[in-house]
Amino acid sequence: PDIQNPHVTLITQDAPMSTPTHGGRAKCLQRLVRLNLPVPRTVALSFDAVHRIAAGRFPDMDALIAAFDPGALLCVRPSSEDPDWGGPGAILNIGMNDARFVDMSDEIGKEAAAGLYLRFVQAYAIHVARLDPDLFDEIEDNGTAGLSAALRAYEEEAEEQFPQDPARQLREVLRSMARAWEGTSARLLRQAKGAPVDAGLGLVVQEMALGLGHGECGSGVLQLVNSDTGKRQLTGRYLSQSQGREALQGGAASLYLERDPRGPSLEELAPKAFADLKAQADLMRRKLRAEMQIEFTIEDGEVHILDGVRVKASSRAALRIAVRLAQDGIITPEDAVLRIEPRAISELLHRQVAPEARREVIGRGIAASPGAATGRIVFSAAEAQASAARNEPCILVRRETSPEDVRGMHAAVGVLTERGGMTSHAAVIGRGLGLPCVVGAARMNFNLQRKTIQGEDGRIYREGDTVTLDGTSGQILRGAPEMIEAALDDAFNTLMGWADEARDIGIRANADTPADAATARNFAAQGIGLCRTEHMFFETDRITPMREMIFADTVEDRQAALALLLPMQRNDFTELFRIMEGLPVCIRLFDPPLHEFLPSDRAGLRDLAEALDLPVSDVTRRVQAMGEYNPMLGLRGVRLGITVPEIYDMQARAIFEATLDASREGAPPVVPEIMLPLVSAKREVDLIRTRIEAVAAAVRTERGRDITYRLGVMVETPRACLRADEIAPYSHFLSFGTNDLTQMTYGLSRDDAGRFMSDYVSQGVFNEDPFHVLDIDGVGELVATGVQRGRATNPSVTLSICGEHGGNPESIAFCRSAGMDYVSCSPFRVPVARLAAAHLAL
Ligand code: PEP
Ligand code: MG
Repeated sequence: PDIQNPHVTLITQDAPMSTPTHGGRAKCLQRLVRLNLPVPRTVALSFDAVHRIAAGRFPDMDALIAAFDPGALLCVRPSSEDPDWGGPGAILNIGMNDARFVDMSDEIGKEAAAGLYLRFVQAYAIHVARLDPDLFDEIEDNGTAGLSAALRAYEEEAEEQFPQDPARQLREVLRSMARAWEGTSARLLRQAKGAPVDAGLGLVVQEMALGLGHGECGSGVLQLVNSDTGKRQLTGRYLSQSQGREALQGGAASLYLERDPRGPSLEELAPKAFADLKAQADLMRRKLRAEMQIEFTIEDGEVHILDGVRVKASSRAALRIAVRLAQDGIITPEDAVLRIEPRAISELLHRQVAPEARREVIGRGIAASPGAATGRIVFSAAEAQASAARNEPCILVRRETSPEDVRGMHAAVGVLTERGGMTSHAAVIGRGLGLPCVVGAARMNFNLQRKTIQGEDGRIYREGDTVTLDGTSGQILRGAPEMIEAALDDAFNTLMGWADEARDIGIRANADTPADAATARNFAAQGIGLCRTEHMFFETDRITPMREMIFADTVEDRQAALALLLPMQRNDFTELFRIMEGLPVCIRLFDPPLHEFLPSDRAGLRDLAEALDLPVSDVTRRVQAMGEYNPMLGLRGVRLGITVPEIYDMQARAIFEATLDASREGAPPVVPEIMLPLVSAKREVDLIRTRIEAVAAAVRTERGRDITYRLGVMVETPRACLRADEIAPYSHFLSFGTNDLTQMTYGLSRDDAGRFMSDYVSQGVFNEDPFHVLDIDGVGELVATGVQRGRATNPSVTLSICGEHGGNPESIAFCRSAGMDYVSCSPFRVPVARLAAAHLAL
């Protein structure tokens, strides 16, 4: 035949199908043929050939038909580059006509022959002649009566006799499939799945293995693993006297494959065919180096393999499959690592809404902390605690959260806020706690007085109503959809171990509390890259001394408050050093944006008044006097250390005393890292460094022991990036705080941007939320400048990032190429970062 034409190729063991593209199915079939598997004779048409067919230019049809056994029935199946892009459905039994019906009735029986003919007329009428499906779908497969009804319906609707010429039938099938691919709706649909504009379709024409007839005939699908769990488990269905994927719709009539207490199986019905199939599936797994779903037909007891596609697996299944393939020596551990999308792994760390669950979306916000949680709505921290005391899971709903809500966040299973973005208080704390969190759901109407929220569906949800937060997608769902649990199993740990061997950039965690540190260790972080010390005071019993300290206006008052804070800090640090034993811990001195720490409501003001033994009116006045127009750009970070130096003195002392307390005989010495936030000038560093050195000297003398520490600067103002050459010579490390750096580079409030971020992203002003994915063009340029200028004057300076971007795969790629030593991110993002970093290195 014209089969020498490289665009129309007969698949054989040795003929290479190299230059033109024929799509994934053709490629797979060729590999199966090479493995000597019983694949029916197949001709593959390339993308070009199909494109020409759509335009009415057909290959030599006689030659094409002559490539097959005379009298054989044919089928045509789509072969796009990626099976997920879809494509027209397969058409089976081409070549069936009145004459063949007579012949085949003798060979396989009248009923089976009528069944084949009927299926073809139905498919042809609906998909090729495009007649009304309602007229054909319902016709029963009941031998010749059904067939006659179908042929009659065709004649009436199409106003012609059902086409009898096999060449014409095949031609029309090819034309309709080629055209369907080029139609607008099909194109838009596949583009939505990521297909390029010019994605091509190949087609394969295959000789039919009938699945209907004498002896054991039928069809089914088989795979060696469970798609949801990835565990080894023969799954699939088989239906006698069927074709294509009918076994999957066969309901009770379909058989299990393997012997099964629930019902009859192929293994019992046709033991030899079953054994062959299993062996063939195993061969495919080994040679195609993947778990495959096999489509097969049994014809009079003999197995034919029609197709194989990669098993569609859930994230957890994909991971287990990859690890297993590597453990069986089929792929390398590196391949296994590369087969798992870093983002997909975050699903495994948390409970998730089950993929098949029905989602009734009632609102959307920013997916600020992954995982899903179901609970009753509560509107205050106190109600959250009451709810937890009753053992009732609750979702804490707030306009935004502040330190007063932290106890409520601990008690809740999820947090929903109207305002805020990726780095808002709720988001940062939520990620730290591993608590699902959706922020900035501004389109839902929050009414905190009435204790209601209005869903985008128009319904009102009241206190006590059950909702589900999906912090992975940012959706708020009605009710309690089915969930699946986290999967931190052996397979997970094995894969992560392989990833660690491959990667070449360090991964630390941002951890503020002993609980965070334990999570960080658990996820194999290589140290703490950012301990936000002010976060250590978010607990109820601790926020008051912190407030007293901020609030004090005499030296004595401040000393009294600091004296309360010192032992708390010392204990915290000792515990952190012990948990992280042998690993570096980077402690950032206080950086409290004042508005997050001063009481904002009546109850808070009263508490503080009680603690200070002052009238509420005095406290209110002073709070107002301390209020700032723009607290994020106010008395924050190192500015606090410069204006009220006793505060940082206390912290330095707590760190040094804890260092000595935590250093055990024989254990590696603790070397704390002290980091100064919000620096913009070299002089700030000089002033603080001098004081810290004085505290270190004092503690050395008091304790009679040496202390080594490292002092570094958090680079999070544009000026610090530009002046990094001045700052670096006196710093052991520079850590880029890209949350503030993004805020200041864009002049975009990190706490308010959530309200309009979705409009900015949907209109393409920003490709992504820059608080989520580092803006490489702008903020990245400042970072790169800082890196380069810092290294120029201090080649041994350690460079890192500790903003939220440290957990984002694209941003990690940037940090690695900029030459950073490590990234630091929330503990629950550490595994994603480890895997993403491995992908970059492989
Ligand atoms: C930053 O600004 O990037 C940072 C890590 O600090 P914070 O989020 O505490 O301001
Ligand atoms: Mg900051």
